Amino acid sequence: MGNIDSLPVRSDLVGQQPHGAPHLNVPVQLNVNENAYPIPEVVTEAMRRAVDGHLAGLNRYPDREFTALREHLVTYLDGVNERAVGSVDLVPEMIWAANGSNEVLSHIVQAFGGPGRTALGFTPSYSMHPLITTGTGATWVAASRDEEFELDAASVAAEVARVDPDIVFLCTPNNPTGTSIGLDVIAAAYENCRGIVIVDEAYAEFSRPALPSAMTLLEGRPRLVVSRTMSKAFACAGLRLGYAIAAPEVIDALRLVRLPYHLSDITQVLACTALDHADLLLGNVDRLIDSRTAIAERLATLGFTVYPSDSNFVLFGNIASPADLWQQLLDRGILIRDIGIPHHARVNAGTEAETNAFLAALDDIVATAPDTLLSHR
Ligand code: PMP
Repeated sequence: MGNIDSLPVRSDLVGQQPHGAPHLNVPVQLNVNENAYPIPEVVTEAMRRAVDGHLAGLNRYPDREFTALREHLVTYLDGVNERAVGSVDLVPEMIWAANGSNEVLSHIVQAFGGPGRTALGFTPSYSMHPLITTGTGATWVAASRDEEFELDAASVAAEVARVDPDIVFLCTPNNPTGTSIGLDVIAAAYENCRGIVIVDEAYAEFSRPALPSAMTLLEGRPRLVVSRTMSKAFACAGLRLGYAIAAPEVIDALRLVRLPYHLSDITQVLACTALDHADLLLGNVDRLIDSRTAIAERLATLGFTVYPSDSNFVLFGNIASPADLWQQLLDRGILIRDIGIPHHARVNAGTEAETNAFLAALDDIVATAPDTLLSHR
């Protein structure tokens, strides 16, 4: 990056680095939590036809209220709720959508954060939560998870009461740890908070089926917001579509900060088509969970600490040097993520072939450079 110090840039941006993992063109990319499988041909065909019907109308601005997309999201989420414990009657007025859940989160923080306000999160967690917060001029306060990266209701309640934030971020399953929290933890945060409680459920579709969504807590909790995305299980990271579910009043507040026509017509039509084919797009979730299990078991056998994951990635610890391991794997054509937690790294569940390549590379490192792997033997 060039030197921006000579520009009249905001003083809080000086010295900062842009967010983002190294984008390297290697054969096996297991570093940014995408769905490893491409979009099935039946769906790409349907997408092609759908976009075709919208091209001539691109002289007009898109539907600012993305009406059809909201209805599609309600239909999809109603199906999800059938599997969850408890239920919630969703209506389109409770749905928001934007270009990825990053933009959804940014709308929420623009509306409820800003200068003089505070957001609380429980780290390690998704690194964009603090960046989105401070980007609006709000203050970020980090509380810690326990040694296993878990959270319990009592400690979350105490921390929320102590900090008295305007916004609380909870992430479940949590990135980068993969661990989940129970509804009791979310309810405890809410009860001790006067502000907005955001539950970031980007990886929800990879959870154990018995784990209910925070959506089931929405009834009677007008300050609770659940954020989700089509970037992960839905295999549509390139589409850029995230959404939130909350009381209609919260959604009204988000309208105040969004840019006019923020969701392009093409995005809306592609997202609707993807949702029409939800079963096909989610069809590889079980295979990815199998890959996750294979990776977790192998890492544990090798002596790494492995954290229980409800997502499409595995966090592992007891690594002698994450930077060395990252390089050793890269030398073998495999990209994982050094997430900056000492002695830890994160790896995605890939396709069967990618997962096997990762496991074979690990075996090779064990055979050729075993001393570089583990901190404690
Ligand atoms: N939340 C979490 C926890 C994430 O890990 C990510 C992506 N890494 C996002 C939100 C944002 O994803 P997107 O903008 O693609 O929806």
